[in-house]
Amino acid sequence: MDARTLEGRHALITGGGTGIGAAAAQHLHTAGAKLSLLGRRMEPLQAVAEQVGGLAIGCDVTDPQQIANAFDEARTLNGPIDLLIVNAGIAESAPFHKMTRESWDRIIGVNLTAAFECARAAIPDLLKSDNGRLVFVASVASLRGVPYAAHYAASKHGLLGLMRSLAAEYAKTNLTVNAVCPGYVDTPMTDQSVARVSEITGRSEGDARAAITNMNASGRLVDPQAIGNVIAMLCQPLSRDINGAAITLDGGTSA
Ligand code: NDP
Repeated sequence: MDARTLEGRHALITGGGTGIGAAAAQHLHTAGAKLSLLGRRMEPLQAVAEQVGGLAIGCDVTDPQQIANAFDEARTLNGPIDLLIVNAGIAESAPFHKMTRESWDRIIGVNLTAAFECARAAIPDLLKSDNGRLVFVASVASLRGVPYAAHYAASKHGLLGLMRSLAAEYAKTNLTVNAVCPGYVDTPMTDQSVARVSEITGRSEGDARAAITNMNASGRLVDPQAIGNVIAMLCQPLSRDINGAAITLDGGTSA
């Protein structure tokens, strides 16, 4: 594969300062893309931008006005958006009978409604690009139920419905719409899950991490770099016939 196949293309990544988003930034940068990295905290965004170049833009994706402003700022420096990586997400857990409406709204708001808003804000650019790409970071929780995380699983199932509908709707254009569905990944989100499990169950952090790691069939956490690599692969011009796919990276959990 030619190493710089995305030369000059503008990739906008939500949640680009940490974990999977930062790994995607590295792979897209290596392939030659210009980067716009969005998130609420400037510090991690700037750290990634210093490493791989690109624009760090503060943006809470639950606020459509902030999305509009951030996307405009990104366009001013990097031009129309060719590649949109909808990655920002949050996780919480609770037994269903204790799940609050606030928690439900928070999870759906970031993981699903903000994904809709980001896709909507970028679609005119993506449709004008000769190889527009929209990649959603979904989850194995998009494919099956998750005890103690009904809101998270519902949000990630919804994300696949959105992805498949857009893939079907724009199938005759130059835009493809796909999703990656990771199992547990070695990122800050999993660190937070470990801390939560440890706090609720009284198990040591080591035991809690082992329990979560073993929920992946492989018995190891997925490397965020592996997901960044697949996201960059989906963005390649040669991937134009991959459309409407939900690619699992879970070490065989969904097999
Ligand atoms: P991280 O917590 O490292 O990444 C989440 C990112 O989303 C952060 O950079 C965060 O930045 C950003 N974010 C969260 N809320 C908002 C918001 N309101 N506005 C803007 N940005 C926001 O974890 P991961 O890299 O693991 O998570 C990335 C994606 O991968 C998520 O969608 C997650 O659901 C998904 N995923 C993760 C798995 C895992 O095991 N870790 C498994 C399967 C899927 P900031 O806080 O600065 O805003």
